[in-house]
Amino acid sequence: MQLNIAMLGPPGAGKGTQASQLGEVRHVPRISTGDILREAAQLETEFGRAVQATMDAGGLVSDEVMIGIVRERLVREDALEGFVLDGFPRTVAQAEALDTILVDRDPLIVLDISVPSDELVRRLAARRVCGECGEIFGDDLGTECGKCGGALVQRSDDREAIVRERLKVYARDSEPLTSYYRGRRTFAEIDGSRTPDVVERSVQEAIDRFQSSPEQDRS
Ligand code: AMP
Repeated sequence: MQLNIAMLGPPGAGKGTQASQLGEVRHVPRISTGDILREAAQLETEFGRAVQATMDAGGLVSDEVMIGIVRERLVREDALEGFVLDGFPRTVAQAEALDTILVDRDPLIVLDISVPSDELVRRLAARRVCGECGEIFGDDLGTECGKCGGALVQRSDDREAIVRERLKVYARDSEPLTSYYRGRRTFAEIDGSRTPDVVERSVQEAIDRFQSSPEQDRS
């Protein structure tokens, strides 16, 4: 059975950390739309500059562009037996498009990680990422990546003013996704305010639960 997963949750909820972990443990690619866009933004193209400006303002790249990116990514060989989407869908229009893209595949497991907003602001201010390999780090982890030795940097959109805008955009555009998916049996809400290890256990348990009786999901 394929393992098709989408992780939902506000910036700072731990989606990236959990998605990386899941990808490794379950041998499916983590597909982070934020990473894809950051890569595009590094290219000095018109598209790259437009993406960077949108990210720096805390806004969302258009549904049309995002759906195109994900549609192409999901038909690549490595995603045919499963994937973990990190950062997509972020709007109901993206969720509807994803349902269409996945129509002939096994049911999408949706994990919605929730964390109170004060805690999100605190986490994002402390977050650092490795400039070389992209690994994500929380508080007090020094200046060097524990994985590859690269320098740790703050993401330009993790500055407080932008974080507040991203949380506002999340509440407006992405929170409706919870109602969109809530009625499905393959949907789980996960309390993301706990430590990453404890959250990971809940994530794994939810997936095991869904996989143990897959046929009921085909409605
Ligand atoms: P992330 O790394 O998931 O926090 O994404 C960083 C930024 O990329 C977001 O703040 C958005 O500007 C943009 N982005 C990532 N995924 C999407 C998406 N599915 N739809 C629109 N914009 C996105």
